[in-house]
Amino acid sequence: MSRFWSKLVHELSPYVPGEQPKLAKLVKLNTNENPYGPSPRVIAAIQAELGDNLRLYPDPVSLRLREAAAIYYGIKPEQVFVGNGSDEVLAHVFHALLQHDQPILFPDITYSFYPVYSKLYNVAYQTIPLADDFSLVVQDYVRPNGGIIFPNPNAPTGRLLAPEDIEWLLEQNRDSVVVIDEAYIDFGGESAVYLIDRFPNLLVIQTFSKSRSLAGLRVGMAFGQTELLEALIRVKDSFNSYPMDRLALAGATAAMEDRDYFETTRNKVIESRLLLSQELQQLGFQLPPSAANFVFARHPQHDAAELAAKLRTQGVIVRHFKQARIDQYLRITIGTEEENLLLISALKDVLRSD
Ligand SMILES: *Cc1c(COP(=O)(O)O)cnc(C)c1O
Repeated sequence: MSRFWSKLVHELSPYVPGEQPKLAKLVKLNTNENPYGPSPRVIAAIQAELGDNLRLYPDPVSLRLREAAAIYYGIKPEQVFVGNGSDEVLAHVFHALLQHDQPILFPDITYSFYPVYSKLYNVAYQTIPLADDFSLVVQDYVRPNGGIIFPNPNAPTGRLLAPEDIEWLLEQNRDSVVVIDEAYIDFGGESAVYLIDRFPNLLVIQTFSKSRSLAGLRVGMAFGQTELLEALIRVKDSFNSYPMDRLALAGATAAMEDRDYFETTRNKVIESRLLLSQELQQLGFQLPPSAANFVFARHPQHDAAELAAKLRTQGVIVRHFKQARIDQYLRITIGTEEENLLLISALKDVLRSD
């Protein structure tokens, strides 16, 4: 508290990111980063960009990156918006497209940044409970609203909403913007980008932080018709004309272009998820089906917060949320094969000693 702070700042309760430990030796399965490094072509592109050019401002409209993403999805560059991480893109979305008279709707269990942005931009919201099995019930989103937002697959549950449910939801909400945050879609679902031509109310958000191994570079995207993107551009150009630096543009463009590397590492994560899920089930864990690069697991005989604390003493960090309905779950990021083995062996020790 300070007399120098604005009223708004006094009232904020900022998002708390997962721990980024200083100790390098820890097995870090707490923030859903990719266990594999970025494509060698990404490193080469960033190295090629390192030089005198850094004295010059970057391209304010990020054209090459938007073209690369447009080619990937078979859409037009005018249907792609990019920003400094999808968190920044999401902030602009709340500011530009979700601030209306009616409250926006999102699930009770979801990405915990949504209520934070709502507060920052004075957006009223109503949370809609997920079903007991954590599935999203689209019928519950047919009511007056100022917009709808949810991740698909959802975070931190990992559950995927089927394409036909998404289409139905879009049809029922033609007068409000429906934002689908596809941070994890590459690990187990089909992107809704193919629907943007049919639905002017659809905005799809993606990130380079998970499936493209570039959490450290901070690059996110939005896909939609130009009517929606124009709103984001207006906010962006009233905030920061150059959110994408030269290194980020070079690296992200190369990442978009290197499909082979992307598919190989993505497939390795998916295979590891299947294996890890089976091993966790053998240890007595219960988990909803995950389409993401993490699993959401509970053990009927062990308290989740205690398990997380004990795992940490064994050098393994996972994410635990002190939140109603999910406080007995652990969100565990899929690691390399070696990291997953270390997790399982640490869990065996912890479960035995309990
Ligand atoms: C990780 C994540 C993001 C943020 O991604 P950045 O591009 O790193 O800012 C957004 N939404 C969800 C659901 C996420 O899990």
